[in-house]
Amino acid sequence: MTATETPMVLAEGVSKSFGSNLVLKSISLEVQRGEVLCLVGPSGSGKSTFLRCINHLETVNAGRLSVDGVLVGYRQQGDKIYEMHPREASKQRRDIGMVFQRFNLFPHMTALENVMLAPTLLRKGDRATQKSRALDLLARVGLADRHDYYPAHLSGGQQQRVAIARALAMEPKLMLFDEPTSALDPELVGEVLDVMKGLAQSGMTMIVVTHEMGFAREVADKLVFMDGGVVVESGVPAEVLSNPQRERTKAFLSKVL
Ligand code: ADP
Ligand code: MG
Repeated sequence: MTATETPMVLAEGVSKSFGSNLVLKSISLEVQRGEVLCLVGPSGSGKSTFLRCINHLETVNAGRLSVDGVLVGYRQQGDKIYEMHPREASKQRRDIGMVFQRFNLFPHMTALENVMLAPTLLRKGDRATQKSRALDLLARVGLADRHDYYPAHLSGGQQQRVAIARALAMEPKLMLFDEPTSALDPELVGEVLDVMKGLAQSGMTMIVVTHEMGFAREVADKLVFMDGGVVVESGVPAEVLSNPQRERTKAFLSKVL
């Protein structure tokens, strides 16, 4: 990788408050193309808010946040910065896939229909292409034989894998995962992590909020520990996990490891 390559995600002094509650305090980090960053930290530390800022679900109050070299939600012209037109923002958003703790599949649609929905609404290719692509994605998450099942007839792990396939259907250049396995029964966690690992190995750029330290150690290129809206510590996962430098990191890890 060359030093001049634009990072996929670049946060420089990103701050965000809700009323008087400052929940992100000058967050700076970067994720290079093809990298996996695991974001860990106690509940309330601002992890979801940070992901939501990247995905246009919140707006930052200060600092600069860009995806693939383009400011998120803002347009820069000379020295001036304007808010993006909503149409421009939704176009930028299409490049980003997000998977939540709750799978949020449409209950009245089959797995296949869930995966086909966004490409259909955005008229991405013809019907036959949409369908064959969706079937390929379901195969990729190990659910080729479940394409005509409704969410209610799938396990939590299967539903989350459909949600991942659905996010991939828009061919994102960045995937955000917000505690994708936290709502799953323990025996279903592995199958979802395996799919995410395969995605990482295929070169997808990912930010993963998780408490699965085994996954972070094995799959992530970087681990960022957040607490109270600040980045407390970051580095190569194996190093941070085996030799945390900060007391707050040690205290957190002693609870989750
Ligand atoms: P985490 O994902 O690390 O648990 P969050 O980003 O969800 O943390 O929350 C960080 C802080 O921001 C918490 O204090 C939470 O109550 C607050 N917060 C999050 N979303 C909102 C919101 N929409 N309105 C007001 N406060 C919020
Ligand atoms: Mg959260």
